[in-house]
Amino acid sequence: MSKEALYGKTLSELKTCVKDLGLPAFTSKQIADWLYKKHVTTIDDMTNLSKKARTELNDKYEVGLMPPQSFQESVDGTKKYLYQTSNNQFIEAAYLPEDNRNTLCISSQVGCKMGCLFCMTARQGFQKNLTSNEILNQIASLPERDTLTNVVYMGMGEPMDNIENVLKSLEIITAEWGYAWSPRRINVSTIGVVPAMRRFIEESEAHLAISLHSPFNDERKQLMPIENVYTAEKVIEALRDYDFGRQRRISFEYIMFKGVNDSPQHVKGLLQLLNGIKCRVNLIHFHPIPNSPLEGSDYKTMEFFRDKLSQKGITTTIRKSRGEDIYAACGLLSTKKLIKENNEKDY
Ligand code: SF4
Repeated sequence: MSKEALYGKTLSELKTCVKDLGLPAFTSKQIADWLYKKHVTTIDDMTNLSKKARTELNDKYEVGLMPPQSFQESVDGTKKYLYQTSNNQFIEAAYLPEDNRNTLCISSQVGCKMGCLFCMTARQGFQKNLTSNEILNQIASLPERDTLTNVVYMGMGEPMDNIENVLKSLEIITAEWGYAWSPRRINVSTIGVVPAMRRFIEESEAHLAISLHSPFNDERKQLMPIENVYTAEKVIEALRDYDFGRQRRISFEYIMFKGVNDSPQHVKGLLQLLNGIKCRVNLIHFHPIPNSPLEGSDYKTMEFFRDKLSQKGITTTIRKSRGEDIYAACGLLSTKKLIKENNEKDY
C-alpha cells in the first residue's frame, strides 16, 4: 500500500497526523521545519525526532518528493522540467533565469477544462487537480530550488479551478513555519473564475494576473469559452470590490494574435474596460502551437499597443518569448509526452 506524503501538508494537518499517532504536539512543528526549511527527503533524516516517532511515522507516511523525470534547456537559458504525477501523467514547470531574478512557472492541474483556443494544455482535456504535494514538489525537487526568487502559477491548468490546493500551497510557501516567502514573490494567474478569484483575493496576499486577451465579448468568447460564464466585465466589476493596497499587484495578461486582437480599436476597448483599475498590462508574444491558425503579432504592433496604453497611464510591458525552441509554452512538452506514451501503448 502506498504511503501518504507528509510534504505538502500544512502545520494544522501535521498536527492532526501527530495527534493521531499519539506523538507529542511539538513534533508537528519539528516535521514542518524538516520539510520546509531543512529540505529532507526521508523521515529518517528528521534526526531530532525520537526513534519511536520516526518508526511510527515511517509506517504510515513518507516525505513524498519526486524528482523531475526529464528536462530540456533552451538556448536562452529557460529550462523546462517534466514531473510525473500520482496518476502517471505529466506536468511541466519552467525555470526562467534572468539577470536579477529567477522565476519558476508551475502547474496547478494535469490538463485543463477551460478550452482556451490558443492553449496546448486545453487539448489534453482535464485529467486531475494537483495536490498541494504535487504543486509544491515542482519547487522542492527543482535542482535550482535555492536560486529561486519568484514563483508564478502560470503553467498547466487554471489555478482557480483547483483553489483548495492552490491556497494550501500558498499557505505553505508564505507561512513562518513553511518557506516564509513574502507573498509579493508569488503571482497567480486566472482566466477569471470569479467566485474562486474572490476567495483567492480574500484568503491570500499573492499578486493576481488575469488573462484578458480581448476587451470584446464576442471575440473573447471565441478565444476563451469562460467568457460565456464570467465576462471580462464581470471579472473587473468583482475587482472593484477590493482595496489591493500599494503592495499587491493586479496585472492583465494580453497575448497578442496577429490580425485578431491587435487593432487600434482593441487598445480603445482595453482602455475603456480597465478604466479606474490600478493595474499593469503585460503584452505577450504568442508562441505558435501546432495545427492552429493563430499567429503572434509583430513586435512593431506590440510596441504601438504598449505606447498607447502607457500614454494613458497604464504601466505596460512587452514580455519576451522564452524557450520557444523547447516548447516552453504551457502544456506543449507534456502534451508531446502524452502523445508519445499513447502511441507507445498502441503498439
Ligand atoms: S490558457 Fe490556462 S485556463 Fe486556458 S486552457 Fe490553457 S491552461 Fe486552461
